This record gives sequence, structure tokens and C-alpha cells, in this order.
Amino acid sequence: MNTITTDNKSLQQRLKALKEEKNAVILAHYYQEPDIQEVADFIGDSLELAKKAAQTSADIIVFAGVHFMAETAKILNPSKKVLLPDLNAGCSLAESCPPDAFQNIKSEYPDHVVVTYINCSAEIKAMSDLVCTSSNAEKIINSIPEEKEIIFAPDKNLGRYLIEKTGRNMLLWDGACIVHEAFSLDKLLELYKEHPSAMIIAHPESEDHILKTANYIGSTSGMLNFVKNSDHDTFIVATEAGILHQMQKDVPHKTLIPAPAKEDNTCACSECAFMKMNTLQKLYNCLEKETPEILLEESLMKKAHLPIQRMLEI
Ligand code: SF4
Repeated sequence: MNTITTDNKSLQQRLKALKEEKNAVILAHYYQEPDIQEVADFIGDSLELAKKAAQTSADIIVFAGVHFMAETAKILNPSKKVLLPDLNAGCSLAESCPPDAFQNIKSEYPDHVVVTYINCSAEIKAMSDLVCTSSNAEKIINSIPEEKEIIFAPDKNLGRYLIEKTGRNMLLWDGACIVHEAFSLDKLLELYKEHPSAMIIAHPESEDHILKTANYIGSTSGMLNFVKNSDHDTFIVATEAGILHQMQKDVPHKTLIPAPAKEDNTCACSECAFMKMNTLQKLYNCLEKETPEILLEESLMKKAHLPIQRMLEI
């Protein structure tokens, strides 16, 4: 994790000035580095960021997140210039669902309602009836008439969790997030033995055996609220470790421990390499040069907008 240095502070100040000069807004995901979160106008999860992107009156949206999130911002507010600091900031989950293969499944089950998790490409959104996020997925599934069959993509872990929660028998796409599949159950149980009073909280993209240990399962913002409102003092947090920055600011007196990853790494946690491709310097450069920009075809944006709009209405 980055520490905030004097150099970063001066870059943050220059970035703030540049942002005002260009009437730009910086939207940052909770999984971004702390120095990026500190300079953002708004920090949120996918749903919150999508709403902010749709509402902003700024001329430029600098999206400190990954590619599919910046695409969603562009789809929701196409007249704005949307910039992504590093175009290579992709997502293993979005990439696990290529449009051609998905089209084949859709053709095999033409009567199924297609619900896709927002972590997918614009092409996949354009093939969907409804989009959802982890904050509203249950509500979205429950809004579909019971006699209708459902295809859910791309996250099989979230899909399995939703099947349990809603009782709907959905056809699941076989995709996953590398970050949420990296948690080690054995290490988690060891950690729990050291902190027996801790509450384990997990994101539903995590594998079933991790979810079974959890006292609370919820979206990124759901987890933040849970920790804020709980009477407990210690939490083991099973999601991308970047969330700990905002969480610790909300509850400075509580103890937050990242759930351990299977592999021994420097942070002893699970970090998203795609999210961490964005740096403060890249953020500054992209706003200064107004590139790389997210550009999508008009027809694709129109098709992808519909299922997102339906989600926002529900
Ligand atoms: S944490 Fe997982 S789902 Fe989120 S951007 Fe990274 S790879 Fe994609």
C-alpha cells in the first residue's frame, strides 16, 4: 500500500488546481490507493460511482477505477469526456466473459432473462436485460417474475450466493474475480483463532467456503456500513484490501484485519493488480493531456444504457 509522501502532497495540490481549471471531477473506487482516494471528489462502490457519473455536471470525468467502470460512466453520461489513467486497468471478471461465447449461451436459451453483474464489458451489458451490482443484486433478481428463467453472468460466486438468497434457479456463467478467489480458508481460520471475538465480513464475490465462515456478507458499501454500525471492535475483512483505508477513517478506534490470501505476498492480503495500475502520477498526466479517453460507439452505448437504466429505476 502507498504511503502519502510530501511529493504526493504537492502532486495532489497540482491535481486539485488542474481539476478546477478544467471543470473535471475525479471519481475513485474504494479499491484505489489511499493517495488517489484522498484527492477524489467522490469515493464509492460500483453502484454509487455509476450514480455519480450519471449526475455530474463536470465536463470531464476522471475515473480512478478499472475499464468497465469508466465505460459505465461514459454510457451513463455520453456527452462527457471520460478518462481512465491506465487503459490496461482491466478486470479478470469482466475478461472471463467474452461477447462471442456469451452470445452462444444466449442463443441456446433465448427465453431466459439475462442479468449481468456490472463488472462486465459494454458489449456484455448491451446483450443484457438487466444489470445489477452487489448492492442491489437481490432486489434485481426478485423483480423478475417467478415463471421466468434467468441467466446470471459473469460471477459464479455472486450467482451461487444469489441462488441461496432468492431461491431462484439461475444458469450461471463460469467467471470469477481473481482477488476474491485468492483468500485462504486455512489462514483465515488460523487468524480467527488469534482473534476469536472478531466478526468476519465478506464480499459475495468470495468463494462459498469463505462466505460460510462470514458473520456478514455484503457489497463494499454494505461492509463499510456494517463496520460503522456494529458494536464489535475487531473485523476480519474479506475483500480487496484498498477498502481498509476508508473503513479505518470511519472507525479509527476499531481493529481491521485484511483476510489473508493463499499466496504469501507483501501485504498479507488480497489486492487487485488491475486497480493498482492507476497511480497518482498517471491520474495527473491523464487529466493534463486529456488521454487515454474512453470512446464507445453510439449504438453500443444506447444498447448498454437500457439495462443499466432499468437497474437504476428498480
Ligand atoms: S477486484 Fe476483482 S472484480 Fe474488482 S476489478 Fe479487480 S479483478 Fe475485477
